Amino acid sequence: MTFFETKVLNIQNDIFIASKNINFRLIRFHQRLLTSSLVGRLLSVRNAIEKDNFNFLSSRDKLCIVLNLKYNRFLDKETKFYFLKNSGLSFFYKNFSLYDTSFQALTSLTCLPFIEFTSDRTIYGFRPYRDCSDLLFSIKSFFLKIIKKIFGVVLESFFFNNKLDSQLKMIRIFDNIYVFSNFPNKFQHYKLILIKFFNIRGIKLSEKSFLIYSFYEGFEFLGWKLQKSSFSFLLSQVSKNNIKSYKLDLKAIVKNSINVNLSKTLRILNFKIDEWINCYSLSDFWNNIANDLDLYLYKLLWKFFKRCHPRRSNSWIYHKYWKNLSGSWKLIAYDPLNGGISLLKSHNRFMDFHFAFPLMLNTFDKRNHKKISITLYEKYKKNFYSFYYLIYKRQKGLCFCCRRSLGFSNLKLVNLSRFTIKKRLNLVSNLHFFHSYCNWSY
Ligand SMILES: [Zn+2]
Repeated sequence: MTFFETKVLNIQNDIFIASKNINFRLIRFHQRLLTSSLVGRLLSVRNAIEKDNFNFLSSRDKLCIVLNLKYNRFLDKETKFYFLKNSGLSFFYKNFSLYDTSFQALTSLTCLPFIEFTSDRTIYGFRPYRDCSDLLFSIKSFFLKIIKKIFGVVLESFFFNNKLDSQLKMIRIFDNIYVFSNFPNKFQHYKLILIKFFNIRGIKLSEKSFLIYSFYEGFEFLGWKLQKSSFSFLLSQVSKNNIKSYKLDLKAIVKNSINVNLSKTLRILNFKIDEWINCYSLSDFWNNIANDLDLYLYKLLWKFFKRCHPRRSNSWIYHKYWKNLSGSWKLIAYDPLNGGISLLKSHNRFMDFHFAFPLMLNTFDKRNHKKISITLYEKYKKNFYSFYYLIYKRQKGLCFCCRRSLGFSNLKLVNLSRFTIKKRLNLVSNLHFFHSYCNWSY
C-alpha cells in the first residue's frame, strides 16, 4: 500500500543528501534511477490523475500510461492515447494531455529535492505545501511591521539604524521578482542593483521589465488586490479579474456536463470550490464574496436544469434536485455507481485562524517526516467542522490506511462498522477518513 511512496521518499532523500554534499554525479544517478523506476512512474501517474480528476479511467488504462512513461516517447509528439469509454457513457475531458501531465509530475519528483536544497527564504514557487495564503501572510506581516514602525515610537531608531533588510521585502515566484518597500524614491537604486546583478550573469534587462505600483492606488498581485486604505491598514481582497475567471471556470464545468452523471459534476465542482477556498478564503469581506459566488453557481445550475427539463414546472425541478437538510436546502445528487449521495459545497466557510507552513522546513529530509505531518495537521484543521473535525482529530490528520497526511479535497469517509464488535454503539466511532485513492479491503 505505502510501499512505493516510501521508496520514492527514500530516493528523494538520497537526492537531497547528494545535493547537500554537492556531488552532482550522485544527484544525476539518483535522478535517473527515480525516472526509470516503476515506483516513481506509478506515483507520478497517480498524482496527475488526482490533479486532473481522471478517476473514471480503468486500471488497465492507467497501467498503460505508467508503462509508456519514458523519455524517448515524450519527444514523439505523434503518439496518441485513446481511452476506453466506460460502459458507453461519454465523459467530459478537461485535459487530453494526461500523458504530458504525468511526465511533468515525474520530472518534478526528481527535481524538487534539489530545488528545495538551493532555495532560500525569498522563493515561493515550486515548493510543496506552500500555497498562496502563506505568501499573503508573509507580505501582510511585513507591512504590519512597517506601519508599526512608522506610527510607533521607534521612528527615530529606524532612521538611524538604516538597514536594507528592514525596508525591503523581496519575493521570488517562478520567474518574477517582487520587491516591496516603504521608500518609493529608493526604487531606482534597487533597479540599478538588479540590473548590475543580472548583467554580470549575462542577462540583459530592459526598462519594460520593471513595473512600479503605488500602495495607495492598489495593485494586483497573484490574484490578490492589495491596497492601503485611508485608515492606515492593508486591505487584501481577491481581485475582480480573478473572481471573473473563476466564474468562467464554473460556467465551463456546468456547461460541459450535459451527458455526465450529476454526482460526478458535483464532485468536480466541489473539488474546484475546495481548491479556490483554500487559496482565497483569507480575503477581506470574504462573506460577501462567498455569498455572491454561491448565488452565481445556483443560478447557473438552475438555468442548466431548466434546459434539461423544458416542460416541467419550477417546483417540480426544485423538488427533484434540492432537498431539505436540517433546515437548509441543499443540492443533492444520488450516485448510482457507488450507492452514495453527494451534495454541493458552499463557498461560505467559517475560518478563525490560519497556520502558515514554515518556509525553512525541508520537506525532503527524512528526519522531518513527523514534523511535516504535524504541521499539515495544523494547517488543514480549519477545513473540518462538526463531527468531521472529531474524526480528523482522532486520526491525527493521517489516512487510516496508509498513515500519510490527508488533504481536504481528496478524501473519502468510510463506515467500517462491519469489521467491529461495537456495531450500533456509536456511528462516529466506526467512521474513518481514507485517501480517495487508498484501497483497503472494506
Ligand atoms: Zn491513504
